[in-house]
Amino acid sequence: MDEKEREAWYQFHHRKYGIPSDHLRREFEAELSGQNPVDAPLEVPDKMEILFKYSYGQQSRFFRELRENKAIYGARCNECGKVYCPPRSHCNDCYQPTEWVRLEGTGVIRACTVQHYTTSAFIKKLPFICAYVQLDGTDFLLMTNMEVEDVRKIAVGTRVKAVFREERHGSITDFYFKPIE
Ligand SMILES: [Zn+2]
Repeated sequence: MDEKEREAWYQFHHRKYGIPSDHLRREFEAELSGQNPVDAPLEVPDKMEILFKYSYGQQSRFFRELRENKAIYGARCNECGKVYCPPRSHCNDCYQPTEWVRLEGTGVIRACTVQHYTTSAFIKKLPFICAYVQLDGTDFLLMTNMEVEDVRKIAVGTRVKAVFREERHGSITDFYFKPIE
């Protein structure tokens, strides 16, 4: 194919399937330039859309409680008494199944950092805080975002509480932490 024919081919497949033109040019340049042996498999562009759902498995209740009841749940091991949040279905140490316990949603920052650089997805939020929060009544740390007017108010040892968003999706971002004034 000459250049004009190749361009028409790219445009046709771009219009027909919505495949980006630069993708077509990259993937099919060798074929359309006649570089592939005549007996080589002939590849053609196509597009596949997949609708699917996935499961949170044994952590499901944690996310459902966030969405339905604005509640944070941990998972307690009845063997050693440790409480996990994020929850685990079985204790890391005892391998025993855990049971759900409702938490107050208050806690303390055990480690934190101020983000001044990020990818484009979060750039409007700069500067923001990434923190490890130990919720009251738990033995583990939850990595989370803080939402504060003044990032200088956040330090290791700061007491915080969970605030739930009006619109919740059953996601870890259904809540955030802010300092207890
Ligand atoms: Zn245990």
